[in-house]
Amino acid sequence: TEDAAAPAQTDGFHLLIDALKLNGLNTIYGVPGIPITDLGRLAQAEGMRVISFRHEQHAGNAAAIAGFLTKKPGICLTVSAPGFLNGLTALANATTNCFPMILISGSSEREIVDLQQGDYEEMDQLAIAKPLCKAAFRVLHAEDIGIAVARAVRAALSGRPGGVYLDVPAKLLSQVIDADLGERSLVKVIDAAPAQIPGPDAVSRAIDVLKGAERPLIILGKGAAYAQADEAIRALIEESGIPYLPMSMAKGLLPDTHPQCASAARSLVLKDADVVVLIGARLNWLLSHGKGKSWGAPGSKRFIQIDIEPKEMDSNVEIAAPLVGDIGSCVEALLGHVSKDWKAPPSAWIETIEGKKNDNLAKMATKLGKNSIPMDFHSALGALKTIVKDRPDAILVNEGANTLDLARGIIDMYQPRKRLDVGTWGIMGIGMGFAIAAAIETGKPVLAVEGDSAFGFSGMEIETICRYQLPVCVVVFNNNGIYRGTDVNPTGGKDVATTVFVENARYDQMMAAFGGVGVNATTPDELSRAVAEAMDSGRPTLVNAVIDPAAGTESGNIGKLNPQSAVGKK
Ligand code: ADP
Ligand code: MG
Repeated sequence: TEDAAAPAQTDGFHLLIDALKLNGLNTIYGVPGIPITDLGRLAQAEGMRVISFRHEQHAGNAAAIAGFLTKKPGICLTVSAPGFLNGLTALANATTNCFPMILISGSSEREIVDLQQGDYEEMDQLAIAKPLCKAAFRVLHAEDIGIAVARAVRAALSGRPGGVYLDVPAKLLSQVIDADLGERSLVKVIDAAPAQIPGPDAVSRAIDVLKGAERPLIILGKGAAYAQADEAIRALIEESGIPYLPMSMAKGLLPDTHPQCASAARSLVLKDADVVVLIGARLNWLLSHGKGKSWGAPGSKRFIQIDIEPKEMDSNVEIAAPLVGDIGSCVEALLGHVSKDWKAPPSAWIETIEGKKNDNLAKMATKLGKNSIPMDFHSALGALKTIVKDRPDAILVNEGANTLDLARGIIDMYQPRKRLDVGTWGIMGIGMGFAIAAAIETGKPVLAVEGDSAFGFSGMEIETICRYQLPVCVVVFNNNGIYRGTDVNPTGGKDVATTVFVENARYDQMMAAFGGVGVNATTPDELSRAVAEAMDSGRPTLVNAVIDPAAGTESGNIGKLNPQSAVGKK
């Protein structure tokens, strides 16, 4: 019975939902359970999109890549303790990759957790999350929810983007407060990622260094893709005439077929360039830390680095011209000078690159064109290359060892933010989470090219893909194992070798079990037909692409990172 005179009330559930919506956060990726089941239901009832997964890590990966694609923090919702820990892997990965994301997790009662009295799913989640993300907050009072969400949004988006943890104890959700008070407590974040304009001195210094270059090179990283400064970046490259190299998730910022794209001459340009402009790319392991054999003679390079994070400068080698600011503002500032007066790079440099590119592309073309049966990586990827060329607005998700390394080089991208992959850590397991969020956030068809091993980490989420009827086509490159399906353990042991799977597995039948389309493809033609049909119909599809089990190399391109035992070697 309602008392007509009593003021209207609200509670933690509704305030959290209202705070998210007020900040334009309308999608939640999560797994329901105690204590957040009703939060998800209520959010759905209040018009939010609530996508429920089979495992929190994939919901977290979905939120992370939603953040990359939209420049708004992706929201992941998990249950306490184990669910939280599963989501935390994705939160740490998002932070490492500079993707904005907020992990909201239910937690158990503070009083019991802090006295370690053994609650249901007891864990001091805030303390555990803290070192693995950009910021971590706990809310104890319903009237603080508005501020907490605002702080989380700002922390995720401002400066270098990253992951934020928001701890929501069960009791908070059911706390009741006056509806007026509740409404007034909400905060809409104004200008969450303010422009950061580089200093004029820093800009002139960079221009001076660049003008002194004989063999300049621009490297575009996924920070450049994230920044959505696509027009300015294209103008800088085209007006300066400088060759450029995209890192994997920056592919398509300009089409990979652009005449200035130096991807097919990567080793040459890294070795021989004298001035390198890094735009949203770190000199981490993916670029051999900016030194060593692949970078040519020691001391032969000068670096200009554009990054929003001042501490990134000199992280591995000296940066001659640090340009700290947001990529849009920094690139515009350089462009201001370049469009006024600029001399194109020496033609000898451009011609050397051109020659190398043509040689390498011709060699590659013969490998791709083969109609080999059983398929190898090249013939299968040759088929998929055409699929993407014909559908440049589709999104490509890619993980695996050989499947990743070879697809990155073979499949050209034509538009920004269309290639999503294993990122800074080079991890396996992002596949289905990324594919689901890509479909949800963009509405475009998604092609997920997966090694059979990589697929295993998130494969159960094909049920999620079928449940929401998402336009995702998964292609499993099935060579019966990790790296290869033919390995034996040279050091002995009585079980099957640690790197092989069940032979001739039919991953397509998993998809059929959930009502999706499953196809077994043994030739490039079959593969091509099945994928084209899936991409055009938008029906959830899994193609089991049968690859020669002997194809592939240990650890793909990064075998050198494997330590070897020198003791008792047979
Ligand atoms: P890749 O792996 O493609 O080389 P990284 O993840 O190593 O890319 O580098 C991305 C860089 O971009 C990070 O150092 C990050 O601080 C930076 N960054 C991200 N967003 C912006 C932005 N809007 N403006 C400037 N720098 C950014
Ligand atoms: Mg394999």
